[in-house]
Amino acid sequence: MSAEETAPVPHPGPWLTVHALSEFVFCPRAGVLTFETRADQAKEERPANLDFALPYTLRELEQSLNHHLNRVWLWGAVTAGALVAIAVIWWLGRELWLVLPAAILLLIARPLQRHLNAVSILSRIRAVALNARASGGDVDFSQDESQPVDWWQLLAAGWVSVSCHEPHRDDEWALSGTPWRVLRHGSVTIPVFKTNGVARDEEPRLFAQHTVRMAGYCHLIEAREGRESPAGIVLFGNTYQGQTIPNSPQAKAALTDALASARAILDGKDEPLRDPPAEELCVGCHWGCPQRFRQFVTETEVAGEVLAVFGTVASDKQLYHSPCGDRFEWVPPHELALRLDLL
Ligand code: SF4
Repeated sequence: MSAEETAPVPHPGPWLTVHALSEFVFCPRAGVLTFETRADQAKEERPANLDFALPYTLRELEQSLNHHLNRVWLWGAVTAGALVAIAVIWWLGRELWLVLPAAILLLIARPLQRHLNAVSILSRIRAVALNARASGGDVDFSQDESQPVDWWQLLAAGWVSVSCHEPHRDDEWALSGTPWRVLRHGSVTIPVFKTNGVARDEEPRLFAQHTVRMAGYCHLIEAREGRESPAGIVLFGNTYQGQTIPNSPQAKAALTDALASARAILDGKDEPLRDPPAEELCVGCHWGCPQRFRQFVTETEVAGEVLAVFGTVASDKQLYHSPCGDRFEWVPPHELALRLDLL
């Protein structure tokens, strides 16, 4: 079904982003917070244990590898120079002078180790990417079923990755959104976004908000570019593995339902905001994560207005609050709030 054939949006309203809409599906309060604080685009997070952004094209990979290799040569040369200086100073019997090369060695040890680590990781990624080229394979995005995908195999199959900087906009639906990237091949464009990091022992899972987010991007691509967008891809955290989400009639219906529901909430015609959602939603939600109060730093600002702090003093005698707590005047049962005994 093309964009023209999809059901019309119930009524126009304030502009919404696809990201905010998916937050409404996750939790109406999260949607309102995203809308009101204009936290519209989730930042692409760097992996906690890496000092560099992972590459997602062969060009980015080669550039990053060259950059880190150059740094390894540079810091390696400085290390060699410092070691030679230490040997000469020792031979001259001027032990006091050893302080300078020793200090240089200490200073460059960490950056050198960081760049060596990057070279090692990027070399492994390069081997996987080249291997994918040799093995071939492609994904049929017209299938109704969700399928697992490997990023490097898609690139090897001829899909071109394009970073998105400008939002796609649909004036009729008052909807905008910027996928993390799109993959292009012929007349087809596949939007891609990344979920938050997935713990090692966790199975990556797709939720209703992912389907709505994907349907939103597919709709914007079809409406604005007039290109086919039969599915999207969710990449799991900072990995190269993901899952397709077909832009099925059900996904399109979920998108229009979500738009209608979000607008009803913003119009004050719906009252799901009155009651908090199921506790398990709040446990890991960043909107409910308590933070130590710091004036002018941690306060919650809505439409240019700073909200009163709805805080709790923990056993460490510090005042803790969260954006969701300030906005809805409660203490969300976030896992940290439970640990700090704030409830
Ligand atoms: S903390 Fe709970 S109620 Fe608040 S936005 Fe997150 S999930 Fe919703």
